[in-house]
Amino acid sequence: MSERKATAAPGAFTGPDAPALQDILRCVHCGLCLNHCPTYVELGLETESPRGRLYLMRAVSQGRIPVSENVVRHLDLCLQCRNCQDVCPSGVRYGQIMEQARAEILRDGRRAPASWRASRFVLRRFFSHPERLRYLMTALGLYQRSGFQGLLRRSRLLNLLPGPWRNLEQLVPRVSARPFVARGVVGSPADDPPRFRVALLSGCMMPYVFANVHEATVRLLVRHGCKVVVPPEQVCCGALHLHAGDREEAKRLARRNIDVFLAEDVDAIIVNVAGCGAAMKEYGELLKDDPPYAEKASRFSALVKDVTEFLADLPLSDGLGPLHQVVTYQDPCHLLHAQGIKSQPRALLQAIPGLELVELSHPDQCCGSGGLYNIIHPQMAQRLLQRKMQDVAATGAQVIATANAGCALQLEAGLRRYGLPGRVAHVVELLDEAYRTGARPG
Ligand code: SF4
Ligand code: SF4
Repeated sequence: MSERKATAAPGAFTGPDAPALQDILRCVHCGLCLNHCPTYVELGLETESPRGRLYLMRAVSQGRIPVSENVVRHLDLCLQCRNCQDVCPSGVRYGQIMEQARAEILRDGRRAPASWRASRFVLRRFFSHPERLRYLMTALGLYQRSGFQGLLRRSRLLNLLPGPWRNLEQLVPRVSARPFVARGVVGSPADDPPRFRVALLSGCMMPYVFANVHEATVRLLVRHGCKVVVPPEQVCCGALHLHAGDREEAKRLARRNIDVFLAEDVDAIIVNVAGCGAAMKEYGELLKDDPPYAEKASRFSALVKDVTEFLADLPLSDGLGPLHQVVTYQDPCHLLHAQGIKSQPRALLQAIPGLELVELSHPDQCCGSGGLYNIIHPQMAQRLLQRKMQDVAATGAQVIATANAGCALQLEAGLRRYGLPGRVAHVVELLDEAYRTGARPG
């Protein structure tokens, strides 16, 4: 196919966040990524592969085709799991190209699917505002605990809702009765001065849905000599906004977090959600064309550490008790493919006496969670989840360890759906459990 100069076809990528044509052209069409792409593996269609999607984005960038409904449909089915990026010998930065393409499509609202526009609306209205999210989660907790949810589900009234809203009701996580609301200094080691001063990303949903993971994280950090601060003015990291194509709002949130976290003057910014960590490690890239923030954003990104990455770098303190459990580990896409973190969570699990780590046959394959993907594309998400749960069942594991909130929710749904025994736990929950076992009087 000859390279034609970009001409302005209707819908060509021309806005401020357009993916650069030279980035797309790094793809040499070798096809090495194809069998690593979950949607290609499921559907066997070139247009549902990384190479096919890059080809479409290239044609749009060059003005050869408009952003048609068809083009958008193929881009929309991508999970943004970045498995293709991880294996690409040409260094195609697929994740960023896809985020930029989505931003361009969303910018001109007429071409974006209704689900993208709805996601932008909900994310901007609630997730961008911690106070509004708090009210929403409080109301959700009441709905769940009052028995109204059970009543509504039994009444079958939910069947009257449009598909995505029905999925949302089914997949919406259980709100913790005791959210993690602590702010400021939340833990200090006995040693003074502490070895490290670190800041914890509280996140949008984590305090309400996985308060226990935050509590375990703080205990482990304190045990390893960290003074832990949760900056009160922080906001959502913007990862979901980025995935949904709302780069403008993601940049606004990034600027706020940069100001808030850098003011704390910490040795590291600790994140226990792979998707958030991946987005925050890319703030430098996101704001590279924003002169007042470009340098600060790079500095911020360099400080971000996944909690498993941070702890695995330290000598683990004494006191681990035994956990006699068979555990398998599911690599979150945004930890493995976006951050390159593979050995650290496994090393932490293997440090626990009595714990037997059994590998999945395909630990690097997406579980189908993908941010809001399992709500927007329930069928594809279910197909991927089914594969994942077959893989899990073959290990005989009692625990699926992971390190991302979305994966944990999806895997929990998988255990329920396929009637499998066991539980899902964050790596830090298991490590913390082992320390607490070790501390019990024998
Ligand atoms: S592996 Fe990289 S270069 Fe090869 S087809 Fe996939 S994206 Fe293109
Ligand atoms: S990000 Fe995942 S789903 Fe999308 S093209 Fe790459 S491998 Fe396929």
